[in-house]
Amino acid sequence: MKQFEQSDLLKRLPKQFFASLVQKVGKVVAEGHDVINLGQGNPDQPTPAHIVSSLQQAAEQPIHHKYSPFRGHGFLKDAVVSFYKREYGVELDPEKEIAILFGGKAGLVEIPQCIMNPGDVALVPDPGYPDYWSGIELAHGKMEYMPLLEENNFLPDYSRLSQEVVNQAKLLLLNYPNNPTGAIATKEFFEETVSFAKKNDLCVVHDFAYGAVGFNGKKPISFLESKGAKEVGIEIYTLSKTYNMAGWRVGFAVGNESVIEAINLLQDHMYVSLFGAIQEAAATALLESQECVHELVSLYEKRKNTFILSLREIGWEVKAPEGSFFAWLKVPHGYTSESFSDLLLERAHVVVAPGIGFGTHGEGYVRVGLLTSEERLIEAASRIKALDLF
Ligand code: PMP
Repeated sequence: MKQFEQSDLLKRLPKQFFASLVQKVGKVVAEGHDVINLGQGNPDQPTPAHIVSSLQQAAEQPIHHKYSPFRGHGFLKDAVVSFYKREYGVELDPEKEIAILFGGKAGLVEIPQCIMNPGDVALVPDPGYPDYWSGIELAHGKMEYMPLLEENNFLPDYSRLSQEVVNQAKLLLLNYPNNPTGAIATKEFFEETVSFAKKNDLCVVHDFAYGAVGFNGKKPISFLESKGAKEVGIEIYTLSKTYNMAGWRVGFAVGNESVIEAINLLQDHMYVSLFGAIQEAAATALLESQECVHELVSLYEKRKNTFILSLREIGWEVKAPEGSFFAWLKVPHGYTSESFSDLLLERAHVVVAPGIGFGTHGEGYVRVGLLTSEERLIEAASRIKALDLF
């Protein structure tokens, strides 16, 4: 069969680092081993029943069998308004300040194409979520990395960026609670971000995917809570993690009017909108009881406490995450993040994600997802103990 060559654009896209990990894991599973996979970020709990039943009922309504309106249903945007007001005290204009998205990933990949021209620079966190790189490449943009260092609580230090680079930059990507480091942002940091963005004419995109998951009674703050934030940027929220709806593909962008308009315009050309019944279920999730969210956060917190304690008991000095459902662990002396991950896979049948897959400054760490039961997390720690590394 004739093979059609891929476009230059596709050839230029960054290689999916974690694809090779998936292959390695597949091999060990195929050998019949009981693998504990802590390498991925897929929520393990089901979507709460009241949200599923909202979809079931909505699916029967003929109105949702037609095209849904471009730019999404008004009832979902109204639900987003109530959600942001209730959770963060932020006021939003449903028509001008909200864009409905097919999941956070879609928005993150779209945004560089909405505001960057070829050769423009985006400032991205290192380590950071690899999907940011894809969107920037699709926009023919350039990336400059902002190191996230442990000594700075994994917040970027703007004063260490060269002014020349900052002058070329249009976009600034942030993500707190942070994947992969588990760090959370402070009010002061977001305020500093607003003034840095104002001064340098940057558009801030805050990826708030783990917005619901803060530990030790600390509720993660929204970037839009900072004064002037809407003037300089947007926030991207997803229902994937807060309501265990990763498979549903629903999220939204909120904030700066001009950026929201740009996202909506791009989407007018690419899609119609999400299945109306999914929009109804999403509105149900945002508006009804948040008890399911509180239960989910305590589940992750218990897993986190148990796992961190088990690792400390085997002599691994680890720091506990403050939010997200990831733990970011320093690899022992003499290993790279990849050689250590390989060792854990081969000898303990435990999968962790090597930090280097998230960027140069991810070297020296591995990321563990707290997405399995406490028993399995304890089992993972005891298998690691048997390797006698600590
Ligand atoms: N941002 C971060 C940091 C993530 O980890 C993820 C999911 N892994 C997303 C965004 C996207 O989530 P979704 O597309 O399911 O909304």
